[in-house]
Amino acid sequence: MDPSSLDDYRAHGGYTALRRAFALGPAAVIREVTDAGLLGRGGAAFPTGRKWQATAAQPDHPHYLVCNADESEPGTFKDRVLMEGDPYALVESMTIAAYAVGAKHGYLYLRGEYPRALRTLEHAIGQARARGLLGDDILGQGFSFDIEIRRGAGAYICGEETALFNSIEGYRGEPRSKPPFPVEKGLFGKPTAENNVETLVNVLPILTMGAAAYAAIGTPKSTGPKLFCVSGAVARPGLYELPFGATLGDLLGLAGTPGNLRAILLGGAAGGFVRPDELDIPLTFEGTREAGTTLGSGVVLAIDDSVPLPRLLLRVAEFFRDESCGQCVPCRVGTVRQEEALHRIADRTGAAAAADVALLRDVGQAMRDASICGLGQTAWNAVESAIDRLGAYE
Ligand code: NAD
Ligand code: SF4
Repeated sequence: MDPSSLDDYRAHGGYTALRRAFALGPAAVIREVTDAGLLGRGGAAFPTGRKWQATAAQPDHPHYLVCNADESEPGTFKDRVLMEGDPYALVESMTIAAYAVGAKHGYLYLRGEYPRALRTLEHAIGQARARGLLGDDILGQGFSFDIEIRRGAGAYICGEETALFNSIEGYRGEPRSKPPFPVEKGLFGKPTAENNVETLVNVLPILTMGAAAYAAIGTPKSTGPKLFCVSGAVARPGLYELPFGATLGDLLGLAGTPGNLRAILLGGAAGGFVRPDELDIPLTFEGTREAGTTLGSGVVLAIDDSVPLPRLLLRVAEFFRDESCGQCVPCRVGTVRQEEALHRIADRTGAAAAADVALLRDVGQAMRDASICGLGQTAWNAVESAIDRLGAYE
């Protein structure tokens, strides 16, 4: 489909879902999304229907819709592909989400490093406005809604929903403590539904094919299709769409893995490593959890034995130290201590490293237990899994 053409989008079934939403009414749209079992695709897998229901039910007004397009987990590029290749799908699905939760104003918070997505989205929003698909009285249904794009400025932490709200409001991008959750007090202190790009576009097939048909794809607990960002030591890196429930081996079989595969990083820097003998892990939220790892935002990074693991772990630690917003002590200090210990270990092996590995465990546990937000809580995940699953530093 031509991403610059609204006519082409419509010729491919575009805006059928919005018409169905208007025919159903807001409460029934939320019921469809709930019955479809849609889980958030940003990484945390929170039920979308529950989030929308909680936002719609708030007596405080106005309600806001925020699309989190600040995709910055290392190895994640699915939302960029969606926005550059199918921008009207995001505009249409944001309109449906806003209708469901009772929002008249939507913000699209776009990663600053995505200039092409900015151009395609600005064009799509302009065309939708010109054709009465955004603005006042959309499709003559008495519902008004518009979208404002805000660009990030390169901070990973601004993808955390409450830091993102602060950024839109003109404050430093620092996370707020939760609860209260955004559904109750979000952007400008008002009820806010905040959803990832991939989550939102999944609402379109739910409405066009119906909740039951959508829920029949995937597994009972992880329904629908999923985008996987495959990179690293594979023959065919890129974005793959598979139904939930396919195994890691199925996916890597499509991408073509080398004979000297050493590990796979699942879920990005905030995720964890698995071994080449664990390729039967089902790619579902529950399956990866049961296997002691995470699907996160769908990163599958293959690593062969040419990659020095200690150097890779140092890179992950540098990333978290650099991106910590510095607001809370466990993360501000812990990410520095983690990197220092990894530097020391990188130069040594065996017993000499044991004290630093013990220190890493202590610091990692403190970050996980006491950090305000997900950045600090997950900053030790990759290092821990490299030690425990891959036997790094043995
Ligand atoms: P979280 O579990 O705190 O929340 C997930 C969502 O559910 C949030 O929108 C939150 O407001 C909502 N929520 C949770 N409990 C709720 C309740 N009781 N009532 C109403 N709403 C509730 O997770 P998080 O910190 O928002 O996100 C962490 C995830 O983000 C990780 O899995 C990580 O993989 C992912 N991540 C993704 C990227 C990316 O680029 N896509 C970048 C960094 C992190
Ligand atoms: Fe900031 Fe880290 Fe604390 Fe999150 S955990 S608020 S990134 S210092």
